[in-house]
Amino acid sequence: MKLLRRWWKALWRGATCRCPKCGQGALYETFLRVRKTCPACGVTFQPYAGDSLGVYAICYGLSVVPAIAAAILVGFYLNSNPYVVLATFAGVSGSILFGLFRNMKGLWIALVFLMTGLRKNL
Ligand SMILES: [Zn+2]
Repeated sequence: MKLLRRWWKALWRGATCRCPKCGQGALYETFLRVRKTCPACGVTFQPYAGDSLGVYAICYGLSVVPAIAAAILVGFYLNSNPYVVLATFAGVSGSILFGLFRNMKGLWIALVFLMTGLRKNL
């Protein structure tokens, strides 16, 4: 139970764009640029090359599933034409990507923290 609480806390901190280890430092220095290290505890946020691939996987997974559900709802239950279905899919997935990209990237950094531990001075 204690382990689950620790995981949940780290994931929540990452999703809310704070350091998954200490919860004090902000993940971003500008709107989309992640800091190299935490200003509060000093861990490296993205210590491994190729970390951004996981961000893409999370963004894809968390945006495509609701977009498909919305497209199915519009296509089958409202009997819309295919262009409306396509526009619904693009609108929902694009809105999720643009609206929640920072949070999803923070979630990935928290997952990297939980899987490997973010260490100082890598
Ligand atoms: Zn920190």
